[in-house]
Amino acid sequence: FERIKPVVVANWKMNMTLASISKFVDDFGTESFSAEVVVCPPSPYLYILDALKKQQNRSFTLGAQNVHAEKSGAYTGDVSADQLLDVGCHYVIIGHSERRAIGESNEFIHQKVRQSLETGLIPILCVGETEEERKQGKTNSVVEKQVLTALLNMNDISKVIIAYEPVWAIGTGQSAVPEQAQEVHQFIRSVLIKHFGILANQLPILYGGSAKPDNAKDYSAMNDIDGLLVGGASLKADDFKKIISAFC
Ligand code: PEP
Repeated sequence: FERIKPVVVANWKMNMTLASISKFVDDFGTESFSAEVVVCPPSPYLYILDALKKQQNRSFTLGAQNVHAEKSGAYTGDVSADQLLDVGCHYVIIGHSERRAIGESNEFIHQKVRQSLETGLIPILCVGETEEERKQGKTNSVVEKQVLTALLNMNDISKVIIAYEPVWAIGTGQSAVPEQAQEVHQFIRSVLIKHFGILANQLPILYGGSAKPDNAKDYSAMNDIDGLLVGGASLKADDFKKIISAFC
């Protein structure tokens, strides 16, 4: 079957300013890529980033770093899926380990995935084990539970993207060895096929955790690694473009 179109995502986390974003857009250039490229700035910058990229004809798509589970209402400080769509977002990161660490449960993440799909946003669902869980041999069971709870009772998951991000590899410089990541990706794919059928063969599964220009090619060589979710190395357009090129 056909190789899945690669997806490379920049997660800027709580970094960047108007000035550094403007520089990023300038430096990114007008090149287009055979991979789908998604940039997720902090939410106050979504609107201006969308305007800049349209003005300057940049070939990336916008994503958000989080979304609320409810449609609208009394949720001070939160942002809804409709609002994200309204300012030009097409993707949203859900269940990042930095949010799970401050109390987001698998059930809450499930609500967010559901709300995003109903609104027309593509969820990038993050899953991954901690160092302790890996040491105890629980990697597969933790990841399986995260995936299946988030996607519970969903009959169409064709618009979902999964990002496998071992917690011990995020922002640590200690990236997972490509073969180690491939093993978990293959497991995730088998879980998806078992529960959602053969179409799961077309669902992108991204790796995240200290990905950088130096190691991107090694991940792209793996059968079940369909792209990367990049934190630190996505803040500079040149580094990020080198990572994208590894998948093109
Ligand atoms: C991330 O934020 O999802 C991530 C993988 O970060 P880093 O690339 O900095 O490890």
